[in-house]
Amino acid sequence: MTGPNPLAARAAAAFERLYGEAPAGRWAAPGRVNLIGEHTDYNDGFVLPFALPQRTVVAATPVDAPLWTVWSEQAGEQITFDGTDAGKPGQVTGWGGYVAGVVWALLDAGHQVPGARLTVVSDVPPGAGLSSSAALEAAVLTALADLGRIDLPVDDRPALAQRAENVYAGMPCGIMDQAASIRCRAGHALFLDCRSLALEHIPFDAAGAGLAVLVIDSRAPHRHVTGEYAARRAACESAARALGVPALRDVTTDGLPVALARLDDDVVRRRVRHVVTENQRVLETVALLRAGDVPAIGPLMTASHASMRDDFEITVPEVDTAVEAALSAGAYGARMTGGGFGGCVLALVDADRVDAVADAVTAAYADRGFTPPVWFSAAPGAGAAALP
Ligand code: ADP
Ligand code: MG
Repeated sequence: MTGPNPLAARAAAAFERLYGEAPAGRWAAPGRVNLIGEHTDYNDGFVLPFALPQRTVVAATPVDAPLWTVWSEQAGEQITFDGTDAGKPGQVTGWGGYVAGVVWALLDAGHQVPGARLTVVSDVPPGAGLSSSAALEAAVLTALADLGRIDLPVDDRPALAQRAENVYAGMPCGIMDQAASIRCRAGHALFLDCRSLALEHIPFDAAGAGLAVLVIDSRAPHRHVTGEYAARRAACESAARALGVPALRDVTTDGLPVALARLDDDVVRRRVRHVVTENQRVLETVALLRAGDVPAIGPLMTASHASMRDDFEITVPEVDTAVEAALSAGAYGARMTGGGFGGCVLALVDADRVDAVADAVTAAYADRGFTPPVWFSAAPGAGAAALP
């Protein structure tokens, strides 16, 4: 990293203001977008996220007692919790639950966790599908692991952060977000096998190919996200049981027609078709990126969107409008990224067409009377780390 880091400076300044001393250290963890592979993680399948330049920074110092004091700029408040609170999932609610959840998950795995004072600043927009929750967990986990000199291999960290969110904060989610925030590498997408947790860093240099990835926040109000997520997950799990496989990952594209014929519910059939074809699209995307053919992934992105819209039924008018407008304005491909029902759209565009495509999406939004979208273009950034 070069140059000043306003987030890190803000975290340290807040720390000094609140606690009257400089922090022992600062740690950062990024938000992410998923290039392709949606709702495949909890089906033991494949995902291909990359880290955003937007990050959550934690400044922290250990204290001698099992007491955690945490201030978040975004939340605009300070909370404290002790070892008893951290020992009981759900005891700390709201945003503090993600922090207490990390302490709980570390304790539950048998580690000694230092008490600490922390400040949190972030430019990952919360609730936009860019995984601010995993960025918070990953930044806190990296900080506490360093401060406590906890022997915790980086391979084991994503599952631990995921348990913080699933068990302590009570939010069901797959492992993608935490794996991306912790394991991503600058200039690469992270090819993750969500069954074995094997991962590979795949070079993803859109800029080198004269392209850019436009990230468009759809601004769609999140509707029924948790319930719909649970319903999709339940449908996938029941289909796997009906098909006699451990997870839908085990249905291949070749085996798909036979599998579909064995299912009698049309909705469940379409859910299965999304997951199976989406896994295949991830594999094809990885093959194209390995071959250095970035523009060729565009049609796979667009096909992924159609599958989410028609088979998995997790898109909303705002994201469909953004995708259609981006494609009409010349994008190589476009798709919703994240769990659905809002969130962000990715569009792969010529670098010199970023503004034109964004303007086209903004105009389409105005026609439909939607809240104007916000957008930025993103190159793959680094995963969680201590800051100098
Ligand atoms: P996403 O992860 O897509 O941004 P989530 O609903 O999973 O959306 O997580 C958002 C929640 O994470 C926020 O409502 C808040 O509770 C918590 N959060 C994320 N970043 C911060 C932060 N910097 N400070 C406090 N809470 C945060
Ligand atoms: Mg989240």
